[in-house]
Amino acid sequence: MKTSNFKITGYSTALFATWFFIEDLGLLLDAGDGVSAGLLQKSRKVKQVFISHADRDHLTGLLQFNQLNARPGLPVIHYPADSGSFPALAEFGGKFDQHVQLAIWEPLRPGDEVFLKKDIIVQAIRNGHVQAPTDKSKSLSFKVVRLKQKIKPEFADLEGSEIARLAKDLGRNFISVQSKETLLGYSGDSPVEDYDRWDNTPILIHEATFLDGSTPMKEKANKHSRLDEVMQMVASINVGTLILSHFSSRYSPAEIDAAILRECKAHKIDIPVYRVLPGQTHRDILAKDPVNA
Ligand SMILES: [Zn+2]
Repeated sequence: MKTSNFKITGYSTALFATWFFIEDLGLLLDAGDGVSAGLLQKSRKVKQVFISHADRDHLTGLLQFNQLNARPGLPVIHYPADSGSFPALAEFGGKFDQHVQLAIWEPLRPGDEVFLKKDIIVQAIRNGHVQAPTDKSKSLSFKVVRLKQKIKPEFADLEGSEIARLAKDLGRNFISVQSKETLLGYSGDSPVEDYDRWDNTPILIHEATFLDGSTPMKEKANKHSRLDEVMQMVASINVGTLILSHFSSRYSPAEIDAAILRECKAHKIDIPVYRVLPGQTHRDILAKDPVNA
């Protein structure tokens, strides 16, 4: 599995704020408080924003972000279709700062695919963070996927010029098939629920709000992941690099790192594991040493 060297900058602390900027793709995943202050003029590079759900720690940064960056057709903000908070915020923002009306708001449903570039899409995936009827789109995870056209084996030996001629005469789909390659996964807020969801993911940004089971999760509350559950999943599937996020601020950096190292050992995890510590903006995360180096 090939891992792209994405330049990823992020901040993520449960309850307070979460945002991740994938600079190479002009992609902002969630827009918690402080995203503009954290990115400064780089926030101008954001083309598309994907908000996982309507909890305030994932969206209140949009007010200032849009005030600074809204211009004709930009940014495009994608949000779970059945969360009323987003139309309300769009309306308020457009009154508060008139030019913010230039931003585009697009409702998203599970299974929707949005083009970031000619060959790169974002897929919306339903998750169980917010309990909602199955036909309601209220909480999403995202997958960044590269689309590839692969020459069918029966044409593989042909010269390039011959392939080009066939493609021109008979159409691209006659000689090639489309395949999909995941580049990056982002859990948003979500319990660990479906191991297959993140299998074959080169870079996985996953939440791990709690380090262990000592904090019983309330039955009715929105559902989160525990570090040990995340690590057990990662040990059972194919992940290239793991970035853990959304830790509760009750934990110190030392406690978080110790718990990660313990889980790596327990599950024999030797892929690079990074973490975004509470209260800290981590810049170009993958350029640093992993916790388990
Ligand atoms: Zn959250």
